[in-house]
Amino acid sequence: MEVDVKKKKNAVSLLYVENDRTTRHMIATILKQKYPRLTLYLAENGSQGLNLFIEHHPDVILTDILMPEMDGIQMAREIKTLDSSARIIMLTAASNTDFFIDSIGIGISHYVLKPIMTGKLFAAIDHCLDSIGLERQLRQQDEEIRIMAYHDPLTGLPNRLLFNELLYLALALAQRHDHDRGLAVLFLDLDRFKVINDTLGHTVGDQLLQAVAERLKACCRRDRDTVARRGGDEFIILLPDIDTTREAVNVAQKIIDAFSHPFAISEHELFVGASIGISIFPDDGADCETLIRNSDMAMYRAKEQGRNRYCLFNQSMNDEAAQRLAMENNLRRALQRGEFFLDYQPEVNVKNGSVIGFEALVRWQHPELGLVPPKKFICLAEETGLIVPLGEWILRNACAQNKAWQDAGLTSVRVAVNLSPREFQSINLAEMVENVLGETKLEPRWLELEVTEGIMIHDIETTSRTLRRLSNLGVHISIDDFGTGYSSLSYIKKLPINTLKIDQSFVNDITTNSDDAAIATAIITMAQSLRLNVVAEGVEAKEQMKFLYSHKCQGMQGYYFSRPLPAGEIQPLLRESHWKDMIPQRATMH
Ligand code: C2E
Ligand code: MG
Ligand code: MG
Repeated sequence: MEVDVKKKKNAVSLLYVENDRTTRHMIATILKQKYPRLTLYLAENGSQGLNLFIEHHPDVILTDILMPEMDGIQMAREIKTLDSSARIIMLTAASNTDFFIDSIGIGISHYVLKPIMTGKLFAAIDHCLDSIGLERQLRQQDEEIRIMAYHDPLTGLPNRLLFNELLYLALALAQRHDHDRGLAVLFLDLDRFKVINDTLGHTVGDQLLQAVAERLKACCRRDRDTVARRGGDEFIILLPDIDTTREAVNVAQKIIDAFSHPFAISEHELFVGASIGISIFPDDGADCETLIRNSDMAMYRAKEQGRNRYCLFNQSMNDEAAQRLAMENNLRRALQRGEFFLDYQPEVNVKNGSVIGFEALVRWQHPELGLVPPKKFICLAEETGLIVPLGEWILRNACAQNKAWQDAGLTSVRVAVNLSPREFQSINLAEMVENVLGETKLEPRWLELEVTEGIMIHDIETTSRTLRRLSNLGVHISIDDFGTGYSSLSYIKKLPINTLKIDQSFVNDITTNSDDAAIATAIITMAQSLRLNVVAEGVEAKEQMKFLYSHKCQGMQGYYFSRPLPAGEIQPLLRESHWKDMIPQRATMH
C-alpha cells in the first residue's frame, strides 16, 4: 500500500508509541508543553502505531522498542517500507544491544537512551522538525517553479505545456471509456487584437487579454474544463467528458455571445471578436497533436468565413491542406522541369484595328493535372515566394520571344508582362529587369510592365522610386485591373504611369449595368485628362466594344478580338489592321 504524501497537513504531527501507560502519559504531557502546536497521536503497541501511521501519516514517529504484539523495530520496518522518508526516533535502553544490531538497515533517524533525558529527546525531535521545515520549503519552491513553468504569467491561465499534459490525461481517460465519452478542443483566436495592441499600446493589450481570460473562464464549467493561453492572442480550451458535438458548439456559441459585449479597459470600450475552431475526440483525431492541429485548421476556416464565428473541423479541410502542400511541391519542381509556358493575347487599337502589343500570360502544363490556370497557382507562388524566380523566367521568356519576332522581321510591338505585388517588392527588381533586357537585347520601349494598385498601399516612397527607375530605363508601365484597388488619384498623377487597364469586372455588364458603365466612362475620361492610355480588358461582345468605342476608349483586349494564343500563332495578327472589319467603320474617334 502506498501512503499518499499529498495527505500531509501543514501542521506538524507526531506519533508516540509506548506500551507503559505511565511513561506514555508523562512523555505526552511534556511534549504538549514543549510543542503546543503539535498534533499528537498515541499508541500502545507496534500494530496500533502502524495503523495510526497509515491513517494520519505523522511527520515524526517516536517509539519504544519492547512492546507486546508488534515491537518497535518491526513497526519501524513496516513504516519505512510504506514511506522511506518517515522520521523515526527510537527510545532504547543502553543495555539493549540487540536494538543496535536489529536497527541496522532500517533507517532510524535518531535514538534516545533510557532513562529519557528531556534535553536529548527535544534535540532529536527538533532535528526531525527542522528537516521537515526544510523539506516543506523546498516543496513549496518546487510548487512555485511548477506554477511558473506551467502557467501564463499575464493571465494566470495554464500555458501550452500544461494544456498538452491535461489533454493527454483527458484522452487517456476518454480512451479507457471505450470511446463512449468524447472530448472537445476549442482553438480560439481574437479578431483584430493586433490593431488594438498597436494603436492603444501594450498595457491596454495586456489588460484586454486578462479580461478575455476571465470571460472565457466564465463560459466554461469551472471544475472540469481547462482554458489555457497558447501565446499572443491565441487561447485553447479543453472540454472533457462531453456526449455530443452539440455541447462543444454550445460553449463556442456562448463564447461568441459573451464577446458581443464590449470590454471596458481603462477609459476604452473595446469590441473584440473571437474565431473558434472545434475538433472532437474521437472523430477528428485520437492524439493531442492531431486534435490541436485540426482545431487550429478549423479556426482558420472560421476566420476565412468572416471571423467572429466558430467552425467545426471536417476531414475535407485536411484534404485541402494536403492538396495545397502537394500543389506547392509540384510548383517548386515545375520550374526545373520546364512545365511553364506563355500565351500571348493581343491588345488592339480600335482606331485602326491594329495590334498595340501582346500581354504574356503564364500557363502551367502539369503532367497529371493538365493545364493549370494562373488563378490556381499565382497566389500560391506569391505566398511561397516562388513567384520571384518564376516571374524572372516569365520576363526573360517574354522579352526573348518579342526579340525573336522582331528578328524575324515582324512589326515591332510591345510585350506586356504582369508583375505580382510580391515581385514588385523585391529590392532589385529594376536591376533584374535591366539585366534581362540586356541579355535578350530587347529595347526597353518594347517592354511593358503591368502592376496592380495593390503595390500602392505599401510604402509609397519605395514604390515610386522603383517605378521611376523602371520608367527611366524606358520601360512602359501600366496599371492592371484598374478600379478594383485603393489607389488614390493623386498618386496616379505623381507616378510615371503610361496606361490604365480597366478591370474586366466593369466591362462584363457595361451595356446593362449603369454603375459599371459610369465607372468605366469615368476611368476613360480621367485617363484622357491625365494623358494616359486606356485599355479595356475582357471585351467579349460587339456591344461592349461599341459602347467603349463610343466613349473613346482606344485600347481593348478580350476574347472578342482574340483569346490568348501560343507564340507560334500570333504572326497573322501582326498584319496591318487585322481587326479592321470588327470595329465600327465610321471613324467616330479622334
Ligand atoms: P490579368 O493580368 O488581368 O490578365 C487578363 C486575364 O483575363 C487573363 O486570364 C486572360 O486570359 C483573361 N481574359 C482576357 N480576355 C478575356 C475575356 O474577354 N473574357 C474573360 N472572361 N477573360 C479574359 P488568365 O490568363 O487566366 O490570367 C489571370 C490572371 O493571372 C491575370 O490577370 C494576372 O493577374 C495573373 N497572371 C497571368 N499571367 C501572369 C504572369 O505571367 N505573371 C503574374 N505575376 N501574373 C499573371
Ligand atoms: Mg494583366
Ligand atoms: Mg487585368
